[in-house]
Amino acid sequence: MTSERRVIVVIGQVASGKTTVARELGRRLGGRVTGIEQLRAAGSDTSPAGVARELGALAGSGTIVYECSGAHPDFEETLFEIEAAGIRPLVALLDASIETATRRLQERGQREPPRGGGSWSKHLRWVQTRLRLVPVDVCVSAERDDPSETAGQILEAFENEAPGQRVALGVVSFSRLATYEVCPLSHRFKYIEGREEEFTPAAVRLGKCLHLALAQLYVAKAPGMSLGSLVALFETIVAAEAPVEEERRWLIEQGRETLEFHYRTSFACDARETLSTEKRVALDFGGGVVLTGTMDRLVRTPTGVIEVIDYKTRFRAFSSRPRIPDLLQLAGYGVATLLEYQTQHVFLRRHYLESGEEDRLLLRRDETTSVCLALRRWIRRLSGGAAPRQGRHCRMCFYCPSCEHAAFDAERRPWARPA
Ligand code: SF4
Repeated sequence: MTSERRVIVVIGQVASGKTTVARELGRRLGGRVTGIEQLRAAGSDTSPAGVARELGALAGSGTIVYECSGAHPDFEETLFEIEAAGIRPLVALLDASIETATRRLQERGQREPPRGGGSWSKHLRWVQTRLRLVPVDVCVSAERDDPSETAGQILEAFENEAPGQRVALGVVSFSRLATYEVCPLSHRFKYIEGREEEFTPAAVRLGKCLHLALAQLYVAKAPGMSLGSLVALFETIVAAEAPVEEERRWLIEQGRETLEFHYRTSFACDARETLSTEKRVALDFGGGVVLTGTMDRLVRTPTGVIEVIDYKTRFRAFSSRPRIPDLLQLAGYGVATLLEYQTQHVFLRRHYLESGEEDRLLLRRDETTSVCLALRRWIRRLSGGAAPRQGRHCRMCFYCPSCEHAAFDAERRPWARPA
């Protein structure tokens, strides 16, 4: 019988059903349930160390369930303090879209503004962005209002979680972390067994070719590059990257449209100075743990502000692809930039090439600790096993053709057959 003290931390968007799900978990586990609001109402110390102390006092009597939004700036520090108190947390995110949250607030007849003032739409957007910086142990869709089902999925993850995870040592890339989140088995194939990729989905190749073209476009900004030269450059890159003529035609057709839009709506009016493109980044956490990645573009604005820009081909459509704390990667690049340029803040932008839309974040120097705590927690998830995580995303998996767990056949464009 283990005497390990554990807590399930239930976080999520406003109106995602956190309170009901937390109560259901407590009922099924026969454990105590508390939350940040109860602690505040009781006049308890709600600093990270204070929360850890409160949970420590409750955890003596078995597993506890703790509910908070996960959006507060000190959430990472609170998790750190909970672990330092000898309690192992499982972080469960209830994932609800802004549309669902808005509908539920309307159904509740919510007339009061959010506690901090302002509008609900702004608050919901802020929470959603903030939660994209948080690595979680299990993410459950809360689109359907079914607390029993949601609690069941969290309990399954809780019972199957590998015990006592430690920080994985060595050099770890952001793409490795993302691969693990999508499917631990594909991570095993690629990073543990070192298997060759069996095919390249066309969308992945398109993203690579666009990134290579943009890197040269912005490096060549000083002498200026015409749109015609950019398209010619892209065609040269595609010719070198894609082995099949039919795929090349598709890539050029798709890529040309995206590049023309970007050139006219973004590049042509961009007055920022490009400091570097495709810049390698390495964040050293000490103890042999180094996180690496490649920053798409680093710029300085005319007013001297440093900005990190990450280009994405398109906004991520809803799919079965498991959630990744995608803005945490950008925040990691921000920390590396703050350290290199010794500035008090940097701007982080995720720019979607197809639409020109952007996610924007300001990262202050005093936020680097919480970003690093979140990154360490993300890295540590790599030690959680190699179970397959199937879904429609199998179609885009490099190992789909031979994987016996694949839920769907590999993407079947004529040129994308297995080698
Ligand atoms: S095909 Fe699906 S289950 Fe198999 S490794 Fe890829 S993502 Fe995982």
